[in-house]
Amino acid sequence: MNKIGIMGGSFDPIHIGHMNIAEEAAARLGLDEVLFIPANKSYNKDPNENMSSDKRLYLTELAVEDDPLFKASDIEIKRGGTTYTVDTLEELKGLYGDDTELVFLLGADSMLAVDKWREPEKLFKLCRFAVVSRPGCSDGELEKEIKRIEKKYNSEIYRMNTPGLDVSSTDIRNRIAGGEGFRYMLPAKVWKAITDNDLYGFKPEFYPEAAIYVKRLEKELKPSRFRHTLGVAAEARKLARTYSEDPYKAYIAGLLHDCAKNFDREKTYALCEKYGVELDEVLKAQPDLIHSFLGAEAAKEEYGITDEEILRAIKYHTTGHGEGMSPLEMIIYLADIIEPNRAYFKGLDKIRKLAYYDLKSAMEEALEQTISFNSEKGRLIHPLSSQAYSYFKENNRRKRIE
Ligand code: ATP
Ligand code: MG
Repeated sequence: MNKIGIMGGSFDPIHIGHMNIAEEAAARLGLDEVLFIPANKSYNKDPNENMSSDKRLYLTELAVEDDPLFKASDIEIKRGGTTYTVDTLEELKGLYGDDTELVFLLGADSMLAVDKWREPEKLFKLCRFAVVSRPGCSDGELEKEIKRIEKKYNSEIYRMNTPGLDVSSTDIRNRIAGGEGFRYMLPAKVWKAITDNDLYGFKPEFYPEAAIYVKRLEKELKPSRFRHTLGVAAEARKLARTYSEDPYKAYIAGLLHDCAKNFDREKTYALCEKYGVELDEVLKAQPDLIHSFLGAEAAKEEYGITDEEILRAIKYHTTGHGEGMSPLEMIIYLADIIEPNRAYFKGLDKIRKLAYYDLKSAMEEALEQTISFNSEKGRLIHPLSSQAYSYFKENNRRKRIE
């Protein structure tokens, strides 16, 4: 008789706790295969809070692809609607036939709820349950419940006497939202897919000051500028994580980089006067550039930012400068160009790639493109940009020779 393990759940996202139960069950119960079946819509979870089913399935497929015992199944997603395990088991019974035993794998928290699932009598006829304890659930309570259920449904429940790992999807989602590490809580490929695609996104409300800035910027900026701002902040944070720089500082600098951009002419000049921003010939000819220099002052005076590194990153985000920019300065300069809402232009992909490969090479490329683009438009090039370009060109050339 074949024995197939069924791992059901929302897998939002799948993590090592799930993989670990499946491995233990396969070894202890002699399973021929374990099917991981992401629920389309868990009856007990808010569907608005779930990642879309195709993404959860994709992550599940990545998680199992290197283990010949494990398979991902889309039957619950294909069936659609609210997921009831009893429907899944009936479908699987039909597929595999009577000479296959279905073993449904559960963590303790789910075991305590199984009684409330749809058509429990039928469920217990269609499969056997196997349960692992889970950190946070009392083993005594679990054992009592198992005994009660065994009696009620006249079905023996397998106990895998192994504690589950202290990992949950909820904790992982919170970690991602809060910008904390979560890399080793998931299979490597799943971690990579989540970070590469920025799934589950970072939520600014986990940085309380940032949440306040976001509210204010939403009021002050045009909607498209606001969207761009959030994009720059998120991209800057990602770059900072890549280069082991402070993601919080990068996020704040990204948020505030354009805080002076939507001031009208009059206000711009008045504030330049007030904060002592000098208007050189280029700034006078191209007032568009002023917002960077004024932005640093506005961030300080109006948002209370005191960190010099953040203020410099804002100040030089449009021109760069030639004194060897700090990593944070480069990050903001580049994030402004490569953030995902940026309209496509020829050459963007190259900068995007370089930005995650080497900041200085990316700066050289970005400055070269910016300078030639603006020259073609007949605009004056700010001397700071020319100096920055020469600096990076020379610096990168020397590095290549060494
Ligand atoms: P969430 O926090 O969103 O509820 P989760 O980590 O509990 O996610 P689910 O997809 O809800 O994951 O769980 C699927 C199944 O895996 C459930 O039976 C659950 O009890 C079990 N499970 C998940 N993580 C563990 C773990 N660390 N140890 C033991 N069982 C686990
Ligand atoms: Mg759960």
